[in-house]
Amino acid sequence: MATKAKFQAIRGTRDLLPPETALWNRVEQTAHEVFATFGFGEIRLPIFESTDLFSRAVGGETDIVSKEMYTFSNPTSLAAMVRGGRTEGMLSDMLLSEAEMISLRPEATASVCRAYIEHNMQQLPQPVKLYCMGPMFRRERPQKGRYRQFYQIDAEVLGGTDAPAIDAEVIEMVMTFFDKLELQGVLLEINSIGDRNCRPKYVELLRAELSKVKDKLGPDSQRRIETNPLRVLDSKVKEEQSIIEKLPRMADHLCEDCATHYSAVKHQLEMRGVIYRENWRLVRGLDYYMRTTFEITAQGLGSQNAVCGGGRYDGLVELLGGPPTKGIGFAIGEDRLILSLQESGKAPAQQGRDVYIAWMGERAHATAIRAAKDLRKAGFSVELPPVEQKFGKALGQADKLGAKYALILGDNEVSEGLWTLKTLADGSQAKYTEPDLLAHLRKSL
Ligand code: ATP
Ligand code: MG
Repeated sequence: MATKAKFQAIRGTRDLLPPETALWNRVEQTAHEVFATFGFGEIRLPIFESTDLFSRAVGGETDIVSKEMYTFSNPTSLAAMVRGGRTEGMLSDMLLSEAEMISLRPEATASVCRAYIEHNMQQLPQPVKLYCMGPMFRRERPQKGRYRQFYQIDAEVLGGTDAPAIDAEVIEMVMTFFDKLELQGVLLEINSIGDRNCRPKYVELLRAELSKVKDKLGPDSQRRIETNPLRVLDSKVKEEQSIIEKLPRMADHLCEDCATHYSAVKHQLEMRGVIYRENWRLVRGLDYYMRTTFEITAQGLGSQNAVCGGGRYDGLVELLGGPPTKGIGFAIGEDRLILSLQESGKAPAQQGRDVYIAWMGERAHATAIRAAKDLRKAGFSVELPPVEQKFGKALGQADKLGAKYALILGDNEVSEGLWTLKTLADGSQAKYTEPDLLAHLRKSL
């Protein structure tokens, strides 16, 4: 007999199941609350965008764009061509030349900037403060804390000035959020990677210095001397560490404006009581960052321990065809944030039912339905079995579901108008009239 193939979630994707999803909801709810107190509004973005948007914003040379994006041609262009009166014969040739390439989003900042331009948000009071959350897609090697579909919580401040207080407040916001979640072992690292004036000169200097020690570097770093020398600083290869430590540092090559900005950001963080560590080797994987960059790590994550990356990207909106616009933001890796909370025991335990209604008999069923309605309306979590079962079996079920109480409704209870409530933890039992029962539950749950 032929066996049916079993389907499994695609490699690098996974299902999030209860009770874990309760933690996801708590994290997201906390983000909504904390970000609102900083004046941020939620933006919801499409999951896919024009491939060009990402190659222009993130950078064609980055790992993300060069090898990690899920890209395909957009079939709606076919429908548009048919509507445009093209014959089928013409279509096959044109499909290749005219089809628009689209990609699943690997990150959110490019889309937020696209939306800022598209909706003329520069006409709103500046800066515009937006946040979003949802899945991102990168074709990376799946491992703990690294998935092909993963989730980010993202916040961006666009327009207005590049006042260092904005950088500091954005960082303060994410630290407040982590604090509220009681995330453990949080470490904030900051750096300045300069701007259009000073960074190119530094990158050239770095390239020249790296070329001198090229033979001592591994293949990845050797390649990056050409493509992206800054990323060499990011290297975790053990043999390269002593070499990297001797390389020239951006901090010593910042132009005056960038140096002033950087020290003001640090001062602003201190004013807010935000504890940070400087890390001159902190560079971001995306091309658009400038000046302030930061990364936050947390405990319990092994080598994938970055839970948030962010920084300033003043030229990005302009690069995408908008007006000159300041910008700064961050992206939190929600999967890793959740992992860290779970590892440190900050995850809520399985959420049991408040009340399991054990009913027997026709009349009791009708009363049980009404009781369930009233209890749910009062906000209790209620399990109402769909078919009659013996009380013994029902109580066993209630136990398995982690219910706190069993409400026992048989014909006696219904005719007496006195309902039996059993506390499952200690087996104690008491009778209540309907209104008393509700009042009692309100007090004790
Ligand atoms: P990493 O160096 O860990 O790959 P990154 O520099 O690629 O991170 P960003 O693009 O700055 O990360 O994204 C911000 C955050 O999103 C990261 O700090 C991380 O928590 C999370 N993240 C990035 N890629 C993944 C992934 N494939 N799976 C799970 N989380 C991810
Ligand atoms: Mg990465």
